[in-house]
Amino acid sequence: MAYDVIVIGAGLAGLSAGFELSWRGKKVLLLESEPIVGGRTSSWDDDGMKVESSLHRFKGYYTALPDLLFRAGIDVDRILKWEEQVAVKVGLDKVLFGLSPFHGPIKALRGFLGNNKFISVKEKLALARFFAAGFREYVAHPDQLDAISVLDYAKKHGLNQDAVEKILIPLSSGFFFLPPQRYSTYAYFGMFFPGLKKFYKLRQGTFNGGMTEVMADPLAKAITRLGGTVKTYAKVEKLLVRNGRVGGVLTSEETFEAPYTIIATTLAESQRLVKPHVTEGSWFDDLMKLESMSSVSIQLELDKPSMAQDMTTFAPYTCLGTFSEQSRTTFPNSKGRLSIILTPPERFLEMEEEDILEIVLQDAMKIGLNLETHILDYRVVRYANASYSLDTGNNHLRPSQKTPVEGLVLAGDYTQQPYFATMEGAVVSGRLAAQAIL
Ligand SMILES: Cc1cc2nc3c(=O)[nH]c(=O)nc-3n(C[C@H](O)[C@H](O)[C@H](O)COP(=O)(O)OP(=O)(O)OC[C@H]3O[C@@H](n4cnc5c(N)ncnc54)[C@H](O)[C@@H]3O)c2cc1C
Repeated sequence: MAYDVIVIGAGLAGLSAGFELSWRGKKVLLLESEPIVGGRTSSWDDDGMKVESSLHRFKGYYTALPDLLFRAGIDVDRILKWEEQVAVKVGLDKVLFGLSPFHGPIKALRGFLGNNKFISVKEKLALARFFAAGFREYVAHPDQLDAISVLDYAKKHGLNQDAVEKILIPLSSGFFFLPPQRYSTYAYFGMFFPGLKKFYKLRQGTFNGGMTEVMADPLAKAITRLGGTVKTYAKVEKLLVRNGRVGGVLTSEETFEAPYTIIATTLAESQRLVKPHVTEGSWFDDLMKLESMSSVSIQLELDKPSMAQDMTTFAPYTCLGTFSEQSRTTFPNSKGRLSIILTPPERFLEMEEEDILEIVLQDAMKIGLNLETHILDYRVVRYANASYSLDTGNNHLRPSQKTPVEGLVLAGDYTQQPYFATMEGAVVSGRLAAQAIL
């Protein structure tokens, strides 16, 4: 079979590129190393327990991802349940913050104006100044902002330790698992900036069902309907390079040829694939220097729901970075399901599963969650070096989708696009990669 384009990796970036190209009549071959499609947005059956890559939230201001799903025939409102509030738990106290000034204006206002016991009026004013300055500088001086950590930036703007612990840390280690002393201020404000411009769309969706089942698989099927081919269990070992041009790929079993190849893998895999072909001082230097970060989550199958609602919750001062009960949404066949993204990930990357569980149970007790006697089963899901690092000084190293090598294009959330390491960012990168070929 003759292909126009080979796409390596069927995460959202590869699925997006594959769909755009198939939509425009190109013959696409999508090669995925794993048994399932979806990459970091996937779900599968692990020896009788349904698990997912990790807890994911679909921001209301995303546009490329809903557009892709719409054209693939996937109804966004059916696969998502919209959330209007998130919770922060400090000890036994719980504070609710409204996300959606348009869909839940009263809750949003009450969250910001109320909660004076949780965060003082003085600190609220300091936070308002911190956010106003950050958004101004995000537009005016992006490089300067990428050179300073969000903790140093907060100190510069007079935020006290309480505001740092209760607001900054949930919003930094909670989103993307890095502590604020490492988190780039540019990446930090960039996560919120698109939402600011579309404040009326500020809410977030939780998936109704596993992400492979409701999103990635239907996307792969849409590509197939448009004439593309999707192969799983197909790990690309090497690029096929002839006379300085990439003309295809090699798996352990087959060679596939095409005039264009898109690498849409994780950052670390992309570095591995291009490494044999790059020389020092080349365009690829920055890509090779770009750092990656890891993530670890634990998913607990319970005999009853752990919380009254399925709601995104942050717990500063504990290892429970972001967590949510999911038995009414993503895992409807579970009696109870708690999914937790752990922070800091480095602490848990190599740790024995039983030891992780022990630490999680102790920290959960501190916020009033007594889980021990309710656990039926559990899994730890680890991604070592899968996401590009939001540490300071990395943003300018992110490569464009177009490369100087003939026949070679990059996609993936780590490539240049305005939505950082998110599902929206991955989809935008896939679209840009397809445009570079078209
Ligand atoms: C813990 C966690 C929580 C997150 N939460 C959110 C969230 O709430 N909201 C949000 O918008 N985003 C979130 N994200 C980010 C989002 O998951 C990613 O940005 C997005 O999934 C990245 O897609 P991708 O296609 O770039 O990469 P990936 O999904 O990693 O896809 C790469 C694919 O390439 C395949 N592959 C690798 N090597 C090879 C090879 N040699 N041959 C063939 N195939 C190969 C992999 O198996 C994988 O399927 C989260 C990420 C993590 C890790």
